[in-house]
Amino acid sequence: MARYTGPRCRICRREGSKLFLKGDRCYSDKCSFEKRSYAPGQHGQGRRVRVSDYGIRLREKQRVRRMYGIQEDQFRRYFDEADRRKGVTGANLLQLLELRLDNVVFRLGLAESRQQGRQLVKHGHYFVNDKKVDIPSYQVRQGDVIKVREKSRSIVPIKEALESVVRRGVPEWLSLDAEKLMGVVESLPERGHITMPIQEQMIVEFYSK
Ligand code: SF4
Repeated sequence: MARYTGPRCRICRREGSKLFLKGDRCYSDKCSFEKRSYAPGQHGQGRRVRVSDYGIRLREKQRVRRMYGIQEDQFRRYFDEADRRKGVTGANLLQLLELRLDNVVFRLGLAESRQQGRQLVKHGHYFVNDKKVDIPSYQVRQGDVIKVREKSRSIVPIKEALESVVRRGVPEWLSLDAEKLMGVVESLPERGHITMPIQEQMIVEFYSK
């Protein structure tokens, strides 16, 4: 299935919650969801459909999948891997998603959004442990050092992202050296580190039906 390239704010409105897909704008009063929190389309405001239990779980899965910008088949593979690992499947799933390189550069403030992170990773702007990595889904590990490539240090999106991370902060499982444009994965993300409102148990139930 092709990747969605339409208006991103529409996805938030469709899913009924802020998914933080646009970087700094999402944290400002320019956020479209703050102004129009109803579903998009002509009948968006009038639409009041009773949703089944299956529908509720489906929407939660879609919401999280879209938040991280992942295609269905890949998301399913993350779930299978999370299920295979020891521990709580839902927490394992979120950990796998958080450890993607495109998410980590976003969390560190080296990209304004996950989508921008994905693009910048693909264009080879980051090094992991001094080696260029251009695979957005690359799983970082505890102790990995993520750096902006020397030649990319002055590009505008990275500079702007660093300004905006001051407002949203860096999660405690990562550390950022803003001077050196470098971050370290200090520990693996635990469930408690992820503050976004996610009901991962619903995703587990969705796939376990
Ligand atoms: Fe969603 Fe961000 Fe658009 Fe707000 S600004 S609706 S959070 S993508």
